Amino acid sequence: MRYCPYCQTELIALSLGGAERQACPDQTCGFVYWNNPVPVLAAVVEHEGEVILARNVGWPEKVFGLITGFMEQNESPEVGILREVEEELGLQGRVASFIGNYAFSQKIRLFWHTT
Ligand SMILES: [Zn+2]
Repeated sequence: MRYCPYCQTELIALSLGGAERQACPDQTCGFVYWNNPVPVLAAVVEHEGEVILARNVGWPEKVFGLITGFMEQNESPEVGILREVEEELGLQGRVASFIGNYAFSQKIRLFWHTT
């Protein structure tokens, strides 16, 4: 982000909250680009003894992913992931267990080799 979305002033680098941030130098504006992460939900979907993985046509061949989606405002992670599973797979599920929470930098790619 190069310009303030409120007053269009060019942003400058400021040290805030222990990190360097892009911020608006106009003190009456005060915009700070915090670049906070957006929570994403993911599910390992077990169905009829199999695990269902997703595939996007834009992904390289043999790359699959978990069922994922963005959490909506005022939605718990449990409700959100069940909504995503229903939207993407047409399945009504239940949360069997919470696996964990991970930073995006911990993302891994699964390479599924079919025979
Ligand atoms: Zn501004």
